Amino acid sequence: MNDYITINNISILPMMNKDFHQWIFHAGMLFGSMEKWWGTAGMRKYPHEGVDFCMFKDINGQIHNIDSQFQIAAHNSGKVYRIIDDFIGKTIFIGHEIYNNNLQLFTVYGHTDRLMFKEGFEIIEGEIIGGVAESMKIDIKTHLHITMAWLPENIPIEHLNWQTLNDPYTAQLIDPLKPKFPVIPS
Ligand SMILES: [Zn+2]
Repeated sequence: MNDYITINNISILPMMNKDFHQWIFHAGMLFGSMEKWWGTAGMRKYPHEGVDFCMFKDINGQIHNIDSQFQIAAHNSGKVYRIIDDFIGKTIFIGHEIYNNNLQLFTVYGHTDRLMFKEGFEIIEGEIIGGVAESMKIDIKTHLHITMAWLPENIPIEHLNWQTLNDPYTAQLIDPLKPKFPVIPS
């Protein structure tokens, strides 16, 4: 178990729990980890492409798992480029108006449900994107996955998928727990 980490810049909103205090992460939930934190543990096939939000501590120090009541707020404005199915719920690719060297900044929310936006819609920072999908898998707890990545500007929509995020020649991944406007790639 890692030390507790407080997240200020990722606004997944625990709307149903006003006593929320801070997120808690196992090592395997963090960016770049090769460890699995679910099932019988072991190793991942690829380094973790983002961060998993699964557990939080309330103001009284009690630890809770998130559930499908959780609502996700956009932490940056952007446009919904693609929505695809993942192994728990839906994955939504949001492209921001932030560019560098022919790359565009994307935030990808995985394992979502009840999305409020369709492809092509614009989202304003702070707006509710949708909820977290309830995991029906006995060995995987309900959680939200967030990836941030620089992707080629004008990438074909059909290339917005998990395979692309795991391709280091195409995607420059960023740790979502690092500062809100990530370091510009070299
Ligand atoms: Zn994940």
